[in-house]
Amino acid sequence: MNSAEALWADFATPIVTADDYMNSLRGRGMNVFFMGERVPEPVDHPVMRPSANAMAETYRIASERPEFATARSDIAGIAVNRFLHVPTSPDDLVAKHEMQRELGRRTGTCFQRCVGLDAIGTCHSVTFDIDGKAGTSYHQRFLAFLRRAQAANVVIGGAMTDPKGDRSKAPHQQSDPDLFLHVVRRDDKGIYVSGAKMHQTGAVNSHWLIFMPTMRMTEADRDWSVVGAVRVDAPGLTYVVGRQTNDTRIVDGGTMDAGNAQFAGQEALIVFENVFVPHEHVFMDGEWAYATSLVERFTTYHRSSYVCKTGLGDVLIGAAASAAEHNGVEAASHIKDKLVEMTHLNETIYSSCMAAAHQSKKVASGAYINDEMLSNVAKHNVTRFPFEIARLAQDIAGGLIVTMPSEKDLQHNEVGPLIRKFLQGRDGVEVTDRMRILRLIENMTIGRNAVGYLTESLHGAGSPQAQRIQIARGMKIEDKKARARHLAGVSERAK
Ligand code: SF4
Ligand code: FE
Repeated sequence: MNSAEALWADFATPIVTADDYMNSLRGRGMNVFFMGERVPEPVDHPVMRPSANAMAETYRIASERPEFATARSDIAGIAVNRFLHVPTSPDDLVAKHEMQRELGRRTGTCFQRCVGLDAIGTCHSVTFDIDGKAGTSYHQRFLAFLRRAQAANVVIGGAMTDPKGDRSKAPHQQSDPDLFLHVVRRDDKGIYVSGAKMHQTGAVNSHWLIFMPTMRMTEADRDWSVVGAVRVDAPGLTYVVGRQTNDTRIVDGGTMDAGNAQFAGQEALIVFENVFVPHEHVFMDGEWAYATSLVERFTTYHRSSYVCKTGLGDVLIGAAASAAEHNGVEAASHIKDKLVEMTHLNETIYSSCMAAAHQSKKVASGAYINDEMLSNVAKHNVTRFPFEIARLAQDIAGGLIVTMPSEKDLQHNEVGPLIRKFLQGRDGVEVTDRMRILRLIENMTIGRNAVGYLTESLHGAGSPQAQRIQIARGMKIEDKKARARHLAGVSERAK
């Protein structure tokens, strides 16, 4: 069961529909924990199911909108789900971002499949570069892996963020070597890795994981400079699914209090204990000098992928406009102006992400990567603007989003009629519709999907300072100064 071929045997039939995908998550015997209990079938757990539903939309959209959600891949020689496609033109990246925005609109949450997509693009180019220099065969191995993944249409998760321990120390200096994922043993069949990856988006809803270093490495960090792919049900993997604000509202009964009962995101801590990776699935082992370009390329892809949040912004702007109508204030000039402000912020994010796609560059492997500066600017916008959009949505919605009675009270014989009487807004608006919209705003700004819309916007694909460092590196300040001096007539000696 350890050869690459045997590991792919379960994926002989491609996953096509959203239903196929949901069924593919059952019977895997994964070691998953949530709220202090082992969860044998995460997809059937009421708190985790909405996150699988969101991932399932990446399959649904491929059949409904193939013009941007599928692409012909030269690797497998077939049309593939765009989440498994290496971008080979600026148009590919434009289509990818259109798809991500549309999925954000459909789900109102993180649909979790972009980390693996961006890991694929990154591994394509970095393995090519390593082979060119070191004479290794990582690129062909990676292509063989990806060909199988494309044919089977599996979800590949990306596992990048190590626990990191003492941030002032390199991986090899940590008192516990497991604080960064590393190779603990090698034999003639493959390698064994131990450690952990934190905050792993969609981990339990994936089929395979690609693990990668999280930061630059030094020569002494060779054993930590490792990239490979494992099945999510590989022996030695344990998952602890993260707690999200208000996640258990879904089990309180009814569908209103959850705000978005159908969709949610998911993050998990993944622990690796002596996990075997056959050579065929090892894409870097010890080439520490390439960790920097790997991280930079991944973050360049992924920071533009945060265009997803503009889809969530569309939903939240729509919810705020609906709340205004329910209150009878949609014609007030300050309400209209706030909706314009929200839209301006949302489209500013979109424009920087799309510009980064249109200005993408080809690298040696043939893959295209978003423009680095514009991608960092895009993600930096994402660390700020959703917070302001959320503030304006709460402003328009009013304090009822945090004081509103529960659905159970609404259904209670005695107080239900009182709630219906006193929460009535504009005539003709159903009280339940008003409450549902307010719950959605709560969900996206302080509830379960604020995890994705706000805090993940802040820290996902790197916290704000990470983008500022990249912006500082690329801002060509000397060139800007020279241009200013030239126009001002300042002599070179006088600088
Ligand atoms: Fe994709 Fe956005 Fe979720 Fe990241 S936060 S995985 S880019 S949907
Ligand atoms: Fe993320």
